[in-house]
Amino acid sequence: MDPPRTERMLVDSFGRHVSDLRVSLTDRCNFACVYCHNEGLGDTRGPGDPAQGEMTAAELVRLLRIAREFDVTRVKLTGGEPLLRRDLEDIVREASTFMEVSLTTNGSLLAPRAQALADAGLARVNVSIDTLDARHFRAVRRGTLEPVLAGLEAALAAGLAPVKINTVLLDETLGELPELVDFVASRKGLHLQLIEVMPEIRTDMMPRRVDLDKVRAWLSERAAAVEQRTMHHRHVYHLENGATVELVDPVGNPDFCANCHRVRVTHDGQLKGCLNRLDDYVPTRGLDDEGLRAAFRKVVAERAPYYRRDGPVRAAADPHHLYASLRRPALR
Ligand code: SAM
Repeated sequence: MDPPRTERMLVDSFGRHVSDLRVSLTDRCNFACVYCHNEGLGDTRGPGDPAQGEMTAAELVRLLRIAREFDVTRVKLTGGEPLLRRDLEDIVREASTFMEVSLTTNGSLLAPRAQALADAGLARVNVSIDTLDARHFRAVRRGTLEPVLAGLEAALAAGLAPVKINTVLLDETLGELPELVDFVASRKGLHLQLIEVMPEIRTDMMPRRVDLDKVRAWLSERAAAVEQRTMHHRHVYHLENGATVELVDPVGNPDFCANCHRVRVTHDGQLKGCLNRLDDYVPTRGLDDEGLRAAFRKVVAERAPYYRRDGPVRAAADPHHLYASLRRPALR
């Protein structure tokens, strides 16, 4: 007989159970966003670089199956740019037989593959769009807006709704927020997710951060209802114009981290308990099933909320110093 659900679960010493994985499929990207945290892994490499050290589809699916034993029920595939992986549909097809699979993408390569991904079992997709102004888009993402909007339309046509638009809040594009909100309200099946820029990893983004209290007030004034999600206790605003807007506001927010139920996996198969830490990697490559189970237990045993009531965790390898010294992506 299977053990009861609660006994199977991975629970850290802060009482947080792990329900989700966030997997970086590659550290390659065809954009070079000015703020990119690359899931906490340092710089991305170019799209044509060799797929150095990336887990194979079979390795990843095996890791996910072990996670499923611990009652992890959802996986988000990200990168780098996950659509640079030609085997993305294969990964989705296999993984979606035992887990909910979603994707975060810059959308630029999505249009020709959205239907195949939906057919393979993809449940949802987030498309990162910070502004609808093509010139500002290029300045912030160093990519082109048009194919991204085509990707968004293709995702909707493939039935992947709700499609979430990920928007990193930057001072220079904040004035365009009303336009984005109206765009989301005008298109059935779109949600907007506003993301606070993570300055731990990109200290150079500090001056470009926005005052989130102003954003919260702006949303509250226009909201017909506000709800709170289990994940990170994020607030979701249902605006009077019909738009649904979620606020992802981790920085300095102990409630966010206290309700984090996610473990990360790097493209080269290392487990990682927190985006903001560099001292919590647990390698999994070459391990047998029992070794993989032990790796999950280890990473979860070492998990700690980054933002706490007594301030951010200061890890032995302090990300502030390490990331500040990293080379930033060059214009491509
Ligand atoms: N290339 C894909 C994309 O553009 O969505 C997936 C990888 S990207 C690292 C995943 C998400 O992280 C994107 O929505 C991006 O906007 C967000 N992101 C990247 N750097 C960030 C930062 N410093 N602070 C907050 N969000 C960030």
